[in-house]
Amino acid sequence: MIPLREARQAVLSQLTPLGAVRVPLASALATVAAEDVLAPGPVPPFANSAMDGYALRSVDTVAAPVDLRVVGTLAAGQESAVVVGPGEAVRIMTGAALPNGADAVCMVERTQALDGTVLVEVPVCAGEHVRLAGEDVRAGDLLVAEGTLLGPGHLGVIANSGATSVLVRRRPRVAVLSTGDELVNEGERLAPAKIHDANRPSLVALVTQSGMAASDLGIVADDLDRIVAALAGAAPHHDAIVVSGGVSVGDFDMVRVALDRISEGAMQWMQVAVKPAKPMAFGLLRGSGLPIFGLPGNPVSAMVSFELFVRPSLRLMAGHRVLDRPSVRAWTDEDFPRRPDGKLHLVRVCVRLDADGRVHVRPSGGQGSHQLSAMARADGLALLPDGEGVARGDRLVVLLLDAGELAPAPGLLPW
Ligand code: AMP
Ligand code: MG
Repeated sequence: MIPLREARQAVLSQLTPLGAVRVPLASALATVAAEDVLAPGPVPPFANSAMDGYALRSVDTVAAPVDLRVVGTLAAGQESAVVVGPGEAVRIMTGAALPNGADAVCMVERTQALDGTVLVEVPVCAGEHVRLAGEDVRAGDLLVAEGTLLGPGHLGVIANSGATSVLVRRRPRVAVLSTGDELVNEGERLAPAKIHDANRPSLVALVTQSGMAASDLGIVADDLDRIVAALAGAAPHHDAIVVSGGVSVGDFDMVRVALDRISEGAMQWMQVAVKPAKPMAFGLLRGSGLPIFGLPGNPVSAMVSFELFVRPSLRLMAGHRVLDRPSVRAWTDEDFPRRPDGKLHLVRVCVRLDADGRVHVRPSGGQGSHQLSAMARADGLALLPDGEGVARGDRLVVLLLDAGELAPAPGLLPW
């Protein structure tokens, strides 16, 4: 068995980020910027009002209350040549360009409109309620640095600067297939000794959830030539292949043999010191260098192996700097017993946040590598180190599988 750290290193060290493509902003969410994006001009592009009110000369309001003559009205988006002279004001709306002559805005709540004039009730300082040109972004500012994971705010900032597209790292297109003579498609009737394929639906979903493009390539029988043909056939249209089943030491475990035949240099077949997900095969396809991941067939092992190897690999290829899910130290609400076996155990756990925002975990159910129901219930994988286990009230490091979907800590939010 090889330690998880070494196994991951062996895989990740062979991968590099994919090339860059220019995409419309609408397609750029959750991709990684492949260029520095600089502001072509200032934002806002001109001084404008931060309030609905009156644009005026602040010196005119020193002895407020004061009556000013209203010489015009300015809406947002409206161009105007009006100039504010001494003793004058312009009715102005939020976002409208500040007219020449004015240096401040009095909010409408501090005024009384009279016939042709306005009573300004309080003195207004120079610059009050005025948003200056370039106050958010100056021309030439770095809006988004290369390597930034693009979120909604970045897309808004880029659009605000006038750009319609951005250069990003290509996201891997990932082919997913299952192998096994016992497998039938979901929805099909089960003949004796057959089972429904669970891995493709969950692995396709994991690829999609990672932000990558998944294609479902179906089920392939435990037949060396068919597996070789399926892998080779998928290669030209994809950036990675994820295949489950057939990487263990059974008589019909042909994926390992197939990978040996078609991979470049030494295909790595690993017995990783983890439970579940011990067997794993990884190789680069001869010729194209396309990475192929051979995951174990047991449904929980396949999903855990995806988390440990495939997801970080796909993220590396998509240019992400953060490869893993967030990890936290959590309090155990139950005992986590185990026996020494030289492996790191990845326990499927339910995660809850307590009233202080602390993270707590308990096993989500049966921990067999075929017991997918407990994986389905799990919010995280607790890292239970080799040894005799930990007792309730102790702490464990936990990989959060979908941190964004955890229920908020009770009573912590003010609403
Ligand atoms: P294997 O890795 O091919 O030796 O398979 C290990 C176990 O996982 C066996 O019990 C298989 O029937 C089961 N298995 C393999 N592939 C799948 C799949 N796609 N869906 C559900 N179970 C599977
Ligand atoms: Mg099999």
